[in-house]
Amino acid sequence: MNDCIFCKIIDGTIPSVSVYEDDDIKVFLDISQTTPGHTLMIPKKHVANIFDYDDSLARHVLPKIPVIARAIKKSNPQILGLNIVNNNGEIAYQSVFHSHFHFIPRFAASDDFAMTFKDNSSNYSSEELEEIASRIHKNMED
Ligand code: 5GP
Ligand code: ZN
Repeated sequence: MNDCIFCKIIDGTIPSVSVYEDDDIKVFLDISQTTPGHTLMIPKKHVANIFDYDDSLARHVLPKIPVIARAIKKSNPQILGLNIVNNNGEIAYQSVFHSHFHFIPRFAASDDFAMTFKDNSSNYSSEELEEIASRIHKNMED
């Protein structure tokens, strides 16, 4: 994966401000620092996004999310909350196609991070909601 910037961060070709690494993951500061302490966790194995995680990769990588979240929270008493964001696909704002999880500390409602959840609940009947849930359920792997 020669042209992947996150693979280059893992192998040290591109410098980063490292927080932690082990056999499975690297954790480093996001260059944008959307809020102070904005951190990325990436698997050392190159996978484009969450759709490419097999069971083994998920078991080695995902349990570390709460450990990193707690460490970030404890690192600064001014951190009141934390958004964990994982963008998958260009339409979902993914710009680097090596899977990563953003940890974005929150300091105030008016800090530099925002998300919008529009409420469309009035557009759906309970039957339509059941149908959507059932279609998702049928596609779950063991
Ligand atoms: P995405 O938009 O794909 O969810 O997030 C990619 C993130 O990678 C962005 O927040 C961006 O600031 C960060 N990023 C891109 N290039 C570099 C880099 O060279 N070093 C670091 N530390 N972060 C980077
Ligand atoms: Zn990569």
